[in-house]
Amino acid sequence: DHARTFYRAEMVTTPALPSERAAKPPAGDSTLPFGAYYSDHMIDVDWTMADGWGRPRLHRIQPLQLHPGAKVLHYAIELFEGMKAYRGVDNTIRIFRPDMNMARMNRTAARCALPTFDSAELIAMIADQIRLDREWVPSSSATSSLYIRPTLIATDKTLGVGAPHAAKLFVVTCPVGAYFPSGFQSVSLLADSQFVRAFPGGVGAYKMGCNYAPTIDVAQSAAKKGCQQVLWLSGENEELTEVGTMNIFVLWKNEEGDLELVTPPLDRGLILPGVTRDSLLALGREYGEFKRAFTMEDVRAALKQDRLLQMFGAGTACVVSPVGEIVYHNRKTGSYETWAIPTMSAKPNLMQRFYDHITDIQYGRTDRPEWVYEV
Ligand code: PMP
Repeated sequence: DHARTFYRAEMVTTPALPSERAAKPPAGDSTLPFGAYYSDHMIDVDWTMADGWGRPRLHRIQPLQLHPGAKVLHYAIELFEGMKAYRGVDNTIRIFRPDMNMARMNRTAARCALPTFDSAELIAMIADQIRLDREWVPSSSATSSLYIRPTLIATDKTLGVGAPHAAKLFVVTCPVGAYFPSGFQSVSLLADSQFVRAFPGGVGAYKMGCNYAPTIDVAQSAAKKGCQQVLWLSGENEELTEVGTMNIFVLWKNEEGDLELVTPPLDRGLILPGVTRDSLLALGREYGEFKRAFTMEDVRAALKQDRLLQMFGAGTACVVSPVGEIVYHNRKTGSYETWAIPTMSAKPNLMQRFYDHITDIQYGRTDRPEWVYEV
């Protein structure tokens, strides 16, 4: 039923010729920059409104041919995913929770009026792709991985703003080094509520390209203030929503003096439902922690009363990313305030516990079969 999905069993594989294969990054390099090297093969599948999904192809990576009228180029009818495969201590390659990424990809496709598909079919196709490119999955260090980028674009050349009649799904992969090659490095955040990433009724909960383009200039403003990331705030009372392209977590003692892990809830569609977020919440529940909305005023009060222990981002790229400082634009006074966050020195160090637990699962040091897909 090609109206509903494509099928792995129909995939046509054409391995790249030796002459078409790229040089691999130097072995032992755990500092590979993100997205600089691509593996030799890609998947692509075309869809049309008339005929549904076509036959998937697995072949050498090559440029796409698009008509300049293609809708993706004009109206950003586009979405993507990001997940990773890890070579474990036992040499088994594991993809971390791809079912979560595929479910998110299908939700985003539906919201973009792009076609959906059977998640299990694409996961099995990606496993074939990674097996073909298995030499590209880094083995040099226990912190490198193969980043997997599934993408879906509207390709028909009718310029009307309307439902796409043609689309292409493709998957490329990149070997990537450690996010923190020399141990955790805490970041400084710009918190300024004049910049908004997502709003109620918008598409912040979906992984569409159109959510990212407007953030680049804001990140450049943050850099001018000496900040590495943007702390995205929402609403009159400046609720914290996300940090850069990560979900945000805070570990503090609440006003009753109980240790509490908080992250914003998904209910208003402001937050990308991160796979790492979901994983930390699952582990946190096993360790006994929670979630709720919180504002800049809550953060200020907790810092003042020495109750705030840790603040960190969470995402596929880094697992966790410690926050060491916030540069806060105070709307009332108009001035910038610098708040120091004690993440790196806090006890207990829940961030480190999460990092160790998640990476132990990813690299096969701890069994959690429901969270890994073996290639
Ligand atoms: N928020 C945003 C805006 C993101 O782009 C990402 C990266 N996908 C995340 C959060 C973290 O999500 P995940 O844990 O699935 O990588």
